[in-house]
Amino acid sequence: MTATPPLSANTPLLDAILDAPGMGQRRAIAKAITLLESTRADHRAQADALLTALLPHSGKSLRLGISGVPGVGKSTFIEALGLYLIEKGHRVAVLAVDPSSSVSGGSILGDKTRMERLSVREEAYIRPSPSSGTLGGVAEKTREAMLVCEAAGYDIVIVETVGVGQSETAVQGMTDMFVLMQLPNAGDDLQAIKKGVMELADLVLINKADIDANAALRAEAQITSSLRLLGISGNPHDPHSEDYWHPKVLKISALQGQGLDAFWEAVTTFQRLQTANGLLQSRRQHQALAWMWERIDAGLKQSFKNSPLVRAQLPAITTAVQSGQLAASTAARQLLAVLAASPSAAPP
Ligand code: GDP
Repeated sequence: MTATPPLSANTPLLDAILDAPGMGQRRAIAKAITLLESTRADHRAQADALLTALLPHSGKSLRLGISGVPGVGKSTFIEALGLYLIEKGHRVAVLAVDPSSSVSGGSILGDKTRMERLSVREEAYIRPSPSSGTLGGVAEKTREAMLVCEAAGYDIVIVETVGVGQSETAVQGMTDMFVLMQLPNAGDDLQAIKKGVMELADLVLINKADIDANAALRAEAQITSSLRLLGISGNPHDPHSEDYWHPKVLKISALQGQGLDAFWEAVTTFQRLQTANGLLQSRRQHQALAWMWERIDAGLKQSFKNSPLVRAQLPAITTAVQSGQLAASTAARQLLAVLAASPSAAPP
């Protein structure tokens, strides 16, 4: 292992995060997350040291991903669920992945007033989406914030994302169980299937069942059959085995708090089965490695773009490719060779 930066600078912060719940811990979590989100190189070194120190204390939570189109009822549901779980003695952290927030200038998901009753609870910690960077960057910060919350003893971490773009894949890739929220009308599920999102779901919730019970029933039947058609199964060996979780569909009303018991029962069954059969552990291992490689890819690309030698040669090579004098693949190899020879090929 390469030398990690000294831990000493972070010790009071680390101690405060690991301390008992209270205002001090809350402030320390916020401070740690701000440090993790900083783009300054010296902060990044401290943040990495902090993460390394936090890691043995993290990982003990259940990580729930929740996605759905704007207006489906995510924040209404998460608030109801959060309060329900607090009543059961849990501590709940709510994080968000909203890559559009840097464009819109403010995170829709970060609007705390949407979860007024939950945000005032001691046992809840709500953090808006990091508001800058690519989806990969935003997802990285959220993953790291998740580790901080886990180390602080939040045993349920909910990661919310809007059902647009690639953010569902990012959230599915950082959670134990991925929940897709749908509206009870026929068009929606087809859209989710088309986008491939349905295949990510461990559980599909049909929300707003209170508005039209029949429509919700139809949607439930339709989505259940499409899950079967997709051949989705948590079990790579035997799709009928009771030792493995199989994706399910539930009707709920987030507004009226209906279906929370059934939802929680499904989540705990999922957790029990997938822990016993080892899939939960392998999912996390796979996620950690995928995360590492995703960040390596992003870091290499950044190094490439930052390299003065590459930048110096790029215009001429680009012109040569455009004018048909140089094959695109040859150009790529030449530029990569420039990077490899570049003294500044260090990580960003
Ligand atoms: P989000 O954009 O997915 O976070 O959706 P919100 O939670 O903000 O909900 C959008 C709107 O739908 C709000 O006006 C909610 O009150 C309403 N809503 C959410 N869940 C339900 C539900 O189960 N039934 C009904 N009738 N309305 C709901």
